[in-house]
Amino acid sequence: MQFSYSRVSTYQQCPRRYKYQYVDGLKTLPNYDADNPLFLGTALHHGVETNVEYAIQEYLMTYPIATTKHTFEAIKLEYWVGKLKELIENIDGEKVYEYKINTNMFVGYIDLLVKNNDGTYDIYDFKYSNNIDSYMKSGQLHVYKYFYEETSGNKVRNLYFIFIPKISIRMKKTETENQFINRLKLELKNKEIQVKKVKYDAQKVHEFMNSISDIYTEEAFDTNKNRLCDWCPYKEWCHDGNDMNLLVKEVKRT
Ligand code: SF4
Repeated sequence: MQFSYSRVSTYQQCPRRYKYQYVDGLKTLPNYDADNPLFLGTALHHGVETNVEYAIQEYLMTYPIATTKHTFEAIKLEYWVGKLKELIENIDGEKVYEYKINTNMFVGYIDLLVKNNDGTYDIYDFKYSNNIDSYMKSGQLHVYKYFYEETSGNKVRNLYFIFIPKISIRMKKTETENQFINRLKLELKNKEIQVKKVKYDAQKVHEFMNSISDIYTEEAFDTNKNRLCDWCPYKEWCHDGNDMNLLVKEVKRT
């Protein structure tokens, strides 16, 4: 079995969610909210590698229909892709985007790998999120460093998260669209991308490996009900046995 970082962290957060997603293979209806972090994050990543136009087109094409809310998100995307490209241009060294780490046990993609003048490498991961404290505790970059060094024989010098701020202001009832767009643009100018260095901690890699061992022996896949359930696509199924959000073909009933 091959494990990604997100697969293992899903198990760590809630074994039952892991079961629904990876054991039962339950698929849920897509979340077409304009601010779906998955769609925005993907477009942002690809926009940095290509251009702003590509990012916006990719984002809008993900939706069956675009509303003014999507236009507002596209304005943010345009702004941040430009800023992120500028920031990356100012990082010295040879750059590779979406570097794939692929072993029998692990698969992962490094958003940005930079070769330093001394022959070492730096690893960067982009997060379109304000949840900085929580990501700084994450094991992701530690695990990437471990497997990158194992597979490439190269030495990783530094680990970084690049945080792109999420602006979540809403249009007021008294505002026109143009007035809101002007306010949004002002808000964007007041925010800055943050680059945060992460100190390597081998313990995070041990925790990751231990969780993989646990997955192999897991039988109960207990629920872990907590406030994060509100962001779980299986919430209705798990809490109420309601399968409205599940794609019918994939539902397995015993
Ligand atoms: S709703 Fe909560 S308890 Fe149920 S699977 Fe999702 S995260 Fe786990």
